[in-house]
Amino acid sequence: MISDIEAQGIRDRLAGTLDAVAEAARVSGRRPEDVALVAISKFHPADAVRAAYEGGQRHFGENYIQEALAKQDELADIDISWHFTGRLQSNKAKFVPDRFGLLHTLDGSKLAQALHKRLAATCAPTLDVLIEVNLGGEGQKAGVEESELSALAEEVLGLSTLRLRGLMLLPPFDLTPEQRRPLFARLRELRDKLEPSLGAKLPDLSMGMTDDFPEAVMEGATIVRVGTRIFGPRPVKQ
Ligand SMILES: *Cc1c(COP(=O)(O)O)cnc(C)c1O
Repeated sequence: MISDIEAQGIRDRLAGTLDAVAEAARVSGRRPEDVALVAISKFHPADAVRAAYEGGQRHFGENYIQEALAKQDELADIDISWHFTGRLQSNKAKFVPDRFGLLHTLDGSKLAQALHKRLAATCAPTLDVLIEVNLGGEGQKAGVEESELSALAEEVLGLSTLRLRGLMLLPPFDLTPEQRRPLFARLRELRDKLEPSLGAKLPDLSMGMTDDFPEAVMEGATIVRVGTRIFGPRPVKQ
């Protein structure tokens, strides 16, 4: 359980985050409503999610399947849009379509095919996905390489069960927000190049976290993923 004071703190920080996202949109000549905030609740208890929900937040992101399923069960009485933002192994793909509205981290053919198989077998509706791109080089393990992006996007477009909505970026942690900004710009440029070659619209760019969401919004983020600024420091995973 979290205390009333903690719950109020979450709501206050949520309101402050929404203001800051709106301000970043305005200074970059964009409309605040064109940037969605996903509250990243990994390692935080269901009560913390509920507190943010009571503050008006509807979109939440989780990184670990087991943890997410348990939290979703605890929160089944409220209407949350869940996002999956962690690394997803193909053998866990089956849990995603039933439980999440948007997968941010599609990173290869194997995962795309596993999701497709699951969706096709269950007659579930389509799943919205973003392709995670690795712009961090050697040290970065998640995401497709730039050179493989176009082929994966083509493959996903060919799967009737997946709806490709755009791209996602998780920059290397050791970069400052200013050093990350060119990577945010690069993701937008990749999207802009991909759209005409695919003949499809890719409206969403998921980029920007607690430390760098203003920079990401200035470079065109339509979805920012913020955890620490809303929920405080993450407790150690149980
Ligand atoms: C944890 C996480 C976040 C949130 O990070 P904060 O710095 O706490 O805002 C955003 N995106 C992904 C993919 C994450 O894993």
